Amino acid sequence: MNRISHWVNGTSVRGTSGRVGPVFNPARGVQSGEVDLASTSEVDSAVAVAKAAWPAWRATSLSRRAEIMFHLRESLDANRKELAEIISSEHGKTIADAMGELARGIENVEFACGIPNLLKGGYSEQAATGIDVYSIRQPLGVVAGITPFNFPAMVPMWMFANALACGNTFIWKPSEKDPSVSLFIADLVAKAGVPDGVFNVVQGDKEAVDALLAHPDVAALSFVGSTPIAKYIYEVGTRNGKRVQALGGAKNHMVVLPDADVDMAADAAVSAGYGSAGERCMAISVVVAVGDVADPLVRAIEARIPKVKVGAGDDPSSEMGPLITREHRDKVAGYLDSAGAQGATVRVDGRTAPVPSDGFYLGCSLVDNVKPGMACYDDEIFGPVLSVVRVGTYAEALELVNANPYGNGTAIFTRDGGAARQYQFDVNVGMVGVNVPVPVPVAYYSFGGWKASLFGDRHMYGPEGVDFFTRTKVVTSKWPDPATSRVDLGFPQNR
Ligand code: NAD
Repeated sequence: MNRISHWVNGTSVRGTSGRVGPVFNPARGVQSGEVDLASTSEVDSAVAVAKAAWPAWRATSLSRRAEIMFHLRESLDANRKELAEIISSEHGKTIADAMGELARGIENVEFACGIPNLLKGGYSEQAATGIDVYSIRQPLGVVAGITPFNFPAMVPMWMFANALACGNTFIWKPSEKDPSVSLFIADLVAKAGVPDGVFNVVQGDKEAVDALLAHPDVAALSFVGSTPIAKYIYEVGTRNGKRVQALGGAKNHMVVLPDADVDMAADAAVSAGYGSAGERCMAISVVVAVGDVADPLVRAIEARIPKVKVGAGDDPSSEMGPLITREHRDKVAGYLDSAGAQGATVRVDGRTAPVPSDGFYLGCSLVDNVKPGMACYDDEIFGPVLSVVRVGTYAEALELVNANPYGNGTAIFTRDGGAARQYQFDVNVGMVGVNVPVPVPVAYYSFGGWKASLFGDRHMYGPEGVDFFTRTKVVTSKWPDPATSRVDLGFPQNR
């Protein structure tokens, strides 16, 4: 059985805690490996290594750090296929979907190649007579990234590309459900020229996370996962004096106005609702049908569902793979029972879809006449279930979206530019798509939701990522001029 270990100081390190967790191949429904689960003392050793590596790394020139990022970008690019196969084998998503994840992840390494430009500070000559003032950005020290199962390569790249380029040393705690890709990436990072100890991987569960949260030498934590854990990480991390950005769960609404192109909206709802089996934090989970678009839209979505081919991720004809675990598949399926019992209409039940008999599969489901208060509306399902809420007006649609506790992503489908602009102005959500169902920002903007979808002040990656992984220092400087030197106990004046 494949044993998945840690990566510390530039090499693979076997765990010593005596604790391991099972790793499954969700497409076959069988255990494929076991992952070491770090103890507190193993985390402490990794932090000590990262701390020791920091002084030399932060002193490494910007051009050298940028050069290493260019090398890393090239080697990630050259190894996309193998990386995608590893992701698919433990996550279950199709190879094509994994390739998409990698493409969007690598964009963040490309962004970090521009680090010399990104770290430029400001300079004010003659702020006072003979005095110049300038700002510089410096790294924080040892920083940690704790990542979810659903994007085992992209989300870590959101974090470590900027963290390393900014001059920090990094500890990555991957999801214990699909940990193998972390070791493949660690090897590529080392081969790209990142010195030993600068990039480390500690496999583990709550014990490892709690050790990172408590460690005095961890300066900052970047987290992506479910809302209850994000809130916990933010509260404990900040209480312990750390800088924390913690991205949580989502319930993303796609508002379809009566003037929308129904076929285009249905294509988008099916793609964004069922892609990656709904296990995306930016997946569309609720279609808000406004006015008389509802009937034709529901019919159009329903007509598309039987054509979605569900199967193993490594079968090139598959469009949707299995869910991550058997327990999660069963939990998602349970929402179909509760939806029916709570008064919604289950128009398509994914449990009856033709799917492979082994593996953690569930077909696409469509639930109509959903209302707030029903479990399938209130909870983040994180599976291939689309709910349809019917409302009469734009104002009701907006009220529904803004009343939701989550605020990650949303989309509006319309041909009316004025309505789209009004929605962008009104909606309390961090990422908005206009006729774009999954509006994940490009790497040179930043990613983050509002409300219960993000705890912290700075969004992930892009300019806010550089901000998160640096702190600014302002220097006020005067060159010695004995001719003007005198004792003056007054408060310094600029004029
Ligand atoms: P999760 O919260 O269960 O796990 C995330 C990480 O936290 C993992 O590394 C896990 O080991 C660790 N963890 C789990 N329980 C913990 C505990 N009690 N104490 C400390 N650490 C713990 O999330 P998941 O199931 O891996 O991922 C799916 C969730 O992530 C969904 O809610 C999804 O919406 C969210 N997500 C959000 C975004 C975003 O950008 N907002 C992106 C991707 C995923």
